[in-house]
Amino acid sequence: MIVNKRLLFGGCPRHTTTITDGSLLLYGDTMDKTLEIMTPDHEKWEDFVAVLEGEDGCSFFEDEKGKTTWKCKGGNDQTFARKILSLYDDIDVEGSLKYFTEHGGHCDCEILWNVHN
Ligand SMILES: [Zn+2]
Repeated sequence: MIVNKRLLFGGCPRHTTTITDGSLLLYGDTMDKTLEIMTPDHEKWEDFVAVLEGEDGCSFFEDEKGKTTWKCKGGNDQTFARKILSLYDDIDVEGSLKYFTEHGGHCDCEILWNVHN
């Protein structure tokens, strides 16, 4: 799993910093851990949305005309969010995705539009 994480986040200093603040190093030490729901109140929420809107997620990009584009399959597709959440060893992935849906985050970009803001 650690190898996969480094592959996924490789090349982006911002993301590498995000996951070396303890969550990565603690991987494997999952005994006695209580799984938590990722919400805007969670201490790792800002890290999570930074990755979700970055190049490993929706890749939000503003062109020279000020037009914003991003990647999202729409509908009920939470592929990026699921992938990112699964990198944390103390997050209840399914529970968190359900929370997003209940708060208007049916797809990856809606999590950023509706749950984050
Ligand atoms: Zn979307």
